[in-house]
This record gives sequence, structure tokens and C-alpha cells, in this order.
Amino acid sequence: MPMTKNSRDRLLEGRRALVTGASSGIGAAVAEDLARAGAAVAVNYHSDRKQAEEVVARIRGAGGQAVALEGDVSKEEAVIGLVEGTVEAFGGIDLLVANSGIQKDAALTEMSLQDWQAVISVNLTGQFLCCREAVRAFRKGPERDGKARGSIVCMSSVHEVIPWAGHVNYAAAKGGVRMMMQTLAQEVAAERIRVNAVAPGAIRTPINEDVWSTKEGREAMLRLIPYGRIGETEDVARVVTWLASDEADYVTGTTLFVDGGMTLHASFIGNG
Ligand code: NAD
Repeated sequence: MPMTKNSRDRLLEGRRALVTGASSGIGAAVAEDLARAGAAVAVNYHSDRKQAEEVVARIRGAGGQAVALEGDVSKEEAVIGLVEGTVEAFGGIDLLVANSGIQKDAALTEMSLQDWQAVISVNLTGQFLCCREAVRAFRKGPERDGKARGSIVCMSSVHEVIPWAGHVNYAAAKGGVRMMMQTLAQEVAAERIRVNAVAPGAIRTPINEDVWSTKEGREAMLRLIPYGRIGETEDVARVVTWLASDEADYVTGTTLFVDGGMTLHASFIGNG
């Protein structure tokens, strides 16, 4: 999508962002939307360099600023390197979108310790490491005339509140993200650092392609969504941009659900 001039264009002018897991899905859309709003964006990728470079090329092609940075968010040294890389590229960092996430689904008794740990490591520990390094770097940045000096958006999920049988590692990680986000928000608010989360419902991305790519999967998904459509990555990206911006300066410690009403208990429609 070309970067047209409208009122959203300048929302993040001069801000410098790191988006993890930004070579695909929601992360890629977030990176592009932040750039469209004027932010310089570090596009983190784990394995797919080519796709990350395509995101960077699209941002630059539309007149924005971006770099691709390789790094595994579950590894401490790699996360330190990602924040340092962002600071090196843009002279500082003001925004973090901790978006990377994986699923390794199995019933409890079939779930290996390895798959439990893999999901917790990326989806929860990865966000902890990214938040810690971002806050350390925000503290080195200038104060901003009463406005937030740094803003973090954690990518959560409706499964921070909806239990999900067969996905205990994923649901436990997202529930953990909720309490981590609120605790960090409380801890750093006085430094004018905001920490929030966005909780998507069913969004059409590679992570759930096995479900939405079949007719039965799509129909089953739609039964859970009162709004009657599957979400697109841009639905989430636009909300992240707003939440990261000064427009949301008085918002901290909040999860914003972007779920077409999935958390409204669709099974009760028609009196249950
Ligand atoms: P996706 O698979 O396209 O994106 C996940 C990204 O995380 C990928 O780019 C992947 O390379 C990256 N990643 C995986 N392991 C990593 C690691 N060790 N280090 C760094 N990056 C790593 O799927 P998505 O749907 O765009 O998921 C993005 C986020 O949104 C995830 O946190 C996911 O839990 C969350 N989410 C998605 C949905 C949905 O319906 N798609 C719903 C709720 C929450």
C-alpha cells in the first residue's frame, strides 16, 4: 500500500521502533504501518531474511526508513544485539513492539517438555528480554516535554483470558504476557514509559493458516466471531500504531482486544 498523506502520517514522526517477528504476518503489517506513520523501523526476523528484506524494501520504496535485523528473541545476547542494532541504525529507540510468537500444539499428555519450553521461551521469555532491554535503552533517551519517552506494545492474544484446550503452552505464555505487561507498566510508569498489550482474535496469518485455509476451518472460526469476519493484519497494525503514539499518552497497563468480539462469548448469542 503506498504511503498516502493523511492525518495519521505524522503520528510517529521522529520515533524509532523495533518490531520483533516482523518478516511475516502481524509483525510485517505493524512494521509497515509504523513506518507509514513516520517511524524509523528495525524489522527483526528469526529465519527468513528474504521476507524481512522485502518488508524493508516496501517501507523504503514508500519513502520510509527501515533496516532488517536478525535475532532469536529467546536468546539474551541476541535481544541485547537487537536493541543495540536499532540504536546504531537510528540513533536511539523509542518504541518496541514485542510481537514474535510460535505455536506448538498438543494435548497435555502428548506435549513434550521441549515444546512447552519452546513456546514459553519465545512467547513469554522473549517478550521479557525485549522489554528489559528496551527500558534500559529508553532510560538513555531524552525526556519529552511531559509525553512518554518510551512506549512498548506486547503482542498478546485473546488467549490471555480465554482458556484453550490443546494449547496449554500458548495460553500459559499469553496469560503470562498479560501479568508481565501490567507489572512492568506499574513499575516504569513514573519514568514516563508506557507498556500496553494488543490482544488479537483470529487474524489471517501463517500461524493459523492450517485453520483458515480450509472451508470447515473458516466456518469454525467464524462461529467464534460475532463481527462475522476473520481479522486482517492491518486491523491489528492500525491499533498498535495508535497505542504506540502520543495519541494514547495516558494509556498504560491496558490490553486492547482486536478480536471482532471473540471475547464476548459468541455461544450466548440467541440466549445461549
Ligand atoms: P507469524 O507466524 O506470521 O508471525 C510470528 C513471527 O514470529 C514470525 O515472523 C516468526 O519468524 C517470528 N519468530 C518465531 N520465533 C522467533 C524467535 N525465536 N525469534 C524472533 N522471532 C521469531 O504469525 P502471526 O499471527 O503474525 O503472529 C504474530 C503474533 O501475534 C504472535 O505473538 C501470535 O501469538 C500473535 N497472535 C496471532 C493471532 C492470529 O490469529 N494470527 C492471534 C492472537 C495473537
